[in-house]
Formats: sequence, structure tokens, C-alpha cells
Amino acid sequence: MKKTVSFSKDSINVFFHILTSCNLKCRHCYINPEQHGRNTLGLSTIEAWLGAFAENGAATNIIFLGGEPTLHPDLSLAIKKAKELGYGSITVDTNGYLFNDILSKVKPEEVDYFSFSLDGATRQTNNMIRGEGSYDRCIAGIREAISRGFTTSLIYTVSRDNIHELDMMVPLLKDLKIDRFFIQVIGIRGKPAKSGQTQINRKGLQVSRSEWLSIIPDVAEKVAGLGITVTYPKVFLSLEEPFECAGLVAENYFIFPNGRVYRCPLCEDFPLHSMIFKNNRLVKTEKINESDLFELSIPEGCVMNKIIQPENLSYKSNGTPEYKIACCLLKEEIR
Ligand code: SF4
Ligand code: SF4
Repeated sequence: MKKTVSFSKDSINVFFHILTSCNLKCRHCYINPEQHGRNTLGLSTIEAWLGAFAENGAATNIIFLGGEPTLHPDLSLAIKKAKELGYGSITVDTNGYLFNDILSKVKPEEVDYFSFSLDGATRQTNNMIRGEGSYDRCIAGIREAISRGFTTSLIYTVSRDNIHELDMMVPLLKDLKIDRFFIQVIGIRGKPAKSGQTQINRKGLQVSRSEWLSIIPDVAEKVAGLGITVTYPKVFLSLEEPFECAGLVAENYFIFPNGRVYRCPLCEDFPLHSMIFKNNRLVKTEKINESDLFELSIPEGCVMNKIIQPENLSYKSNGTPEYKIACCLLKEEIR
């Protein structure tokens, strides 16, 4: 059954980047060390920050990310702390290298999902985007996790470089026995937004509305037909569909090791965070910050989209938009 996952303040998602270093150098990496820090958080800081978001217990989902979070020698202890604090679900997003023997240090009862990133159905396409050797390591990591009884997801970030292989993921997901499949859309932030990327290059990465609508829903249906839960961003809204900004109507927090806490992923390349950890206490930042943008209403939908990636907008001859861009956090789910 397909449904749009409506925004809700009853379910809280905390995306916790415990470090920004990584063994890979993926082309589309959104990590921006100048804005997110280069430090690796110590365990006591991780525990304190986990505590700051644990108030609503089972209503809160924690996702550990990096960089590559398994490079953190204390990830297993952070997971155990999150479990002890009563988080509703615990996910680890990984590139598949599974450093520090992480699968031996945690139990399937302690981690709800190991979520693996793969950006091509073939070795050639994935490695072109994510680096030599990354395909084989990711596939091996998935098989190892499943053999040890862990539940797995797979994340595929769609761009012009790999959209042609999305359909080929259907048999691969079946073979791997993946439980959930997340299709993401490439964002022009982090590395893709760096100077030197011309407007033409940026447009060359982004998928057009017609490509997205002709390929993504169809592949998602096929994957769901295998019994795998599929989630993908809505991205494009017709002019009649209602637009909502998650910053106003949902509870998502993106924590970085320099202490910044954002509510909107598209703001992460700028010092627009609405909160920051100071001496392990979460405090609001002064204006102007991302919260001031959430209130703005424009006919194109998401304000931040128009600011950072206007290439995906299209206008009629009278200057009005042909469609709106949804909040990047608005998802369709098929199960
Ligand atoms: S694995 Fe993730 S953090 Fe590492 S380079 Fe790739 S996208 Fe960036
Ligand atoms: S992506 Fe756009 S709509 Fe979503 S939270 Fe950010 S500013 Fe709001």
C-alpha cells in the first residue's frame, strides 16, 4: 500500500553525526567539514547529547551517522547507551566497511537496522560514484550483517549517474534479502555544491521531474512487490497539492560533531542551525537562523530549494512555476 508519510510531531527523528571522517570520498557526499566540524566526539559527549534528546523515549528514533560511524571506536557503547535511554529505534548508517568489528560488539536486539549505502546495481557505476572497492565491501557487509541476524536497509541516492541502474536493483535487493529500501535524491549540498561546480554540472547531476516520475514510482512498486518496504522522497508537488515545511510541522534534528543542530538538511552548508550544544546543553541560536526561513511562503514550495538548487524548478511563460518542490523530508512509503 502506497502512502505519503505525513509529518507529525509525535514521532521524532534524531540524525546524529558522531564524526565527519570517512574512509571513502563519494562524489555526492553532503558532509562539509568547514560547517560540520572535523572532530570525533568522545563517548561522554555522545552520551550527554543522546540524553538531551531522550525525553520522549520510545517516540524518538536515533540514526547514527558520520562520516562513517563505524570508524568510531565507541560506536557499540553509544548504541548501548541509546538502548538504555529508551530510544524507540536505533539505526546505523554505514558504507558497508563495518570497521572496529562492530557486528561482533552489538546484538541484533540492540540495533533495529544496519542501513547500507550503495549507489549502483553494478560494480562499475557504484565504484565510479563511491570509490574503488566500495561495491564489493558493501555487498560483503550486507551479507555478513544478515548472516548474524541483523535487519538491514539499503539506501540508493539517485542522480543522473545512476538512475539508469535503479531498475536493476530489484533482483539484487531480492538476492541480498534486504528488509527496507530507501531511494534518496541527490542534493546540491556538501561536495556537489562546492565552487567549481558550474550550473550546467549541477544540472547534470540532478534528475528532471519527468525522469523522476517515469522511473522512481515504478521501480518502488516492483521492489515493494518483493515484500520489501520502500521509501522515496516525493520531491515534486503539483500546484494543487498542499505544501508543508517539516521545520514547522515535524520533529527532525540533525546533530553535527561541532555541536550544531539543524532542523532542515538543506541548511546544513550554512551557519543557519537553530540550536547548538554548549557545554553539553542544547541552546537556541540567535536570529537569523533556519527557523526564520521556514515561515516564508513562496509559490515554488520549499524556500531553501529555491536558494540552493533552483535548477530543478521550471516556469511557465507567464513566470509562474509549473510545479512546487516538496520539503526534502516528505516521503512516500510503499509496503
Ligand atoms: S560514505 Fe558517506 S560520509 Fe563517507 S564519503 Fe561517502 S557519502 Fe560521505
Ligand atoms: S527542506 Fe525546505 S520545506 Fe523542508 S525543512 Fe527545509 S526549508 Fe523547510
